Amino acid sequence: MFERADALALEDSLVRLRHALHRQPELGLELPRTQQAVLDALAGLPLEIGLGKQLTSVTAVLRGGRPGPAVLLRGDMDALPVQEDSGVPYASEVPGRMHACGHDLHTAALVGAARLLAARREELAGDVVFMFQPGEEGMGGARLMIEEGVLDAAGTRVAAAYALHVTSAMLPAGVATVRPGPVLAASDEVTVRVTGAGGHGSSPHAAKDPVPAVCEMVTALQTMVTRTVDIFDPAVVTVGSLHAGSAGNVIPEHAEFVATVRSFSDEAHARVRSGFERTVRGIAAAHGVAVDIDYRENYPVTVNDPAEAAFALRTARAVFGAGQVFEAPRPMAGSEDFSYVLREVPGAYVGLGACPPGRDPMTAPMNHSAQAVYDDRAVVDAAVLLAELAAGRLQFAAEEPS
Ligand SMILES: [Zn+2]
Ligand SMILES: [Zn+2]
Repeated sequence: MFERADALALEDSLVRLRHALHRQPELGLELPRTQQAVLDALAGLPLEIGLGKQLTSVTAVLRGGRPGPAVLLRGDMDALPVQEDSGVPYASEVPGRMHACGHDLHTAALVGAARLLAARREELAGDVVFMFQPGEEGMGGARLMIEEGVLDAAGTRVAAAYALHVTSAMLPAGVATVRPGPVLAASDEVTVRVTGAGGHGSSPHAAKDPVPAVCEMVTALQTMVTRTVDIFDPAVVTVGSLHAGSAGNVIPEHAEFVATVRSFSDEAHARVRSGFERTVRGIAAAHGVAVDIDYRENYPVTVNDPAEAAFALRTARAVFGAGQVFEAPRPMAGSEDFSYVLREVPGAYVGLGACPPGRDPMTAPMNHSAQAVYDDRAVVDAAVLLAELAAGRLQFAAEEPS
């Protein structure tokens, strides 16, 4: 239904919107300028618009001309606290903030998809919900939008949901990847505080030294992972911060470390969490020190529905050409709050290459880097793919025997 050629007429205005967003990055859940830019860009389209209460989200509903279910397309809109060093002419004008993850591109592409779909809304066999989301980078904006009803914005629960993410490295522009099952990791952050009794370094028997206790914990956690988690359903524990003491001859009262935990299934997540707590508590007991564990579950694992992933793969191949789209062999260890959407409804999360021409995708700076650059052509690629995912999925639903 939609081809890249359809979107080329929109290219200039979408790229202009993307550059304007890139110049004025905003962080977290409060993105008032970005929200206004989206509202301005959607003005005049036949959309039912709703704004977020806990965050500056925009939810827009397009009613198709034929009856059918609703599907959801999501674009995240927030930037990162990074000082831009990319050298692009439309670089951030706000010190210490940058669209280093390409969410400016996602936002402009979702506007493009809304324009493409609105232009052919009489042909659509159902409704489309456009989810413009703040606060992907650690704030769980998707969870808040679900709380505020985005999945039911069309009056009925959406039958499927799609999102994509651009990458400044690894994939050349115009190449897309999809995979069934887990695509991104669950991510937890754990802070462990051990309290003993301070004393003189010459007389540890008269103190309760927390230092050897945390040293054992850090190494035992690695053994715990290999003895607890299936090697074909992996997990990673990394202790990236470790602090204790102030002098070589003083036994401190406290020691503390912070770990990140990544896993790719609910089962591995549960096993590694209980193993983590058991290991740390057991070692603390052995040393006679007290321990406090603050185990924060950030985002759950992002899981593509197998049928929706297969549909997204077919759709991407139809849009970009069969040779430009492949099934990713493995998930990636980053995490993403679209995971909350995919826990509620089936859907797929697609990777889209945006490495500029002339750069080697294998060595180009990655997402979140101050030097990351995303090719403008990906705005059109992403807009067409999103539009076709929605239109194709509604058509597919219309053709299914009931
Ligand atoms: Zn990011
Ligand atoms: Zn991102």
